[in-house]
Amino acid sequence: MELQGKNVFITGSSRGIGLAVAHRFASLGANVILNGRRPISAQLLEEFEVYKVKVLAISGDVADGVDAKRMIEEAIASLGSVDILVNNAGITKDKLMLKMTEDDFEAVLKINLTGAFNMTQSVLKQMTKARQGAIINISSVVGLTGNIGQANYAASKAGLIGFTKSVAREVAGRGIRVNAVAPGFIESDMTDAMTDKVKEMALTQIPMKRIGKPEEVASLVTFLAEQEYLTGQVLAIDGGMTMQG
Ligand code: NAP
Repeated sequence: MELQGKNVFITGSSRGIGLAVAHRFASLGANVILNGRRPISAQLLEEFEVYKVKVLAISGDVADGVDAKRMIEEAIASLGSVDILVNNAGITKDKLMLKMTEDDFEAVLKINLTGAFNMTQSVLKQMTKARQGAIINISSVVGLTGNIGQANYAASKAGLIGFTKSVAREVAGRGIRVNAVAPGFIESDMTDAMTDKVKEMALTQIPMKRIGKPEEVASLVTFLAEQEYLTGQVLAIDGGMTMQG
């Protein structure tokens, strides 16, 4: 898919990986819709002026089905279509199983997995009519391998993989492609919150011996949006953490 002039909704794009994805799409000539639960700052919008593309700020909660529908409707009313959706919004609430409450479990599932369901369902009708579209879900290597203290997060990210493949099969005949990216450890507020000990431990598991950059994930996301014959795939970007064989 040619990205120039396409309209891209990136959930959770007020910072971190989502923001890098928005910058990358805008640098390739796509119009971007920035999102977070909190309002997008004027300063963040200014950062995008250099690209000479349209930039919308639509804040709202992906975990709320009514809000998700409203956000997609607002984007379509302003730009005419949403051609690409990146389901990136996500949170962690790490605890060992014996300490994890039902609320801890459900809160993470609700944003990371139900959020992607809400946004995808809201956008699919219009994509189906247009007979084109690309959806990229941001999963995690933890969804492939599991992780101590992340039963909720890993379940949500593994769920996203099953979700990706199911929706990809449903809509492939309509010209819509659905793929997932599974990042390893990437520099962001999420990984900044890790203790030095946990970061050191993480580095021992990465063959490339470094944490990834949000921009590296972003270039994989735009690659997936562009590739016309690629659907239902999960691509890990993790410095070799999950290589097989
Ligand atoms: P981050 O820096 O914590 O940013 C999260 C973004 O999501 C923020 O913009 C936040 O904005 C938004 N958000 C959270 N809940 C939301 C909701 N209910 N509705 C709308 N927006 C919401 O996270 P990140 O590290 O960039 O991670 C981005 C994605 O990559 C997540 O899905 C994460 O699981 C995944 N990932 C990250 C890593 C990593 O190492 N960083 C690795 C693998 C996968 P507000 O706070 O304003 O809501």
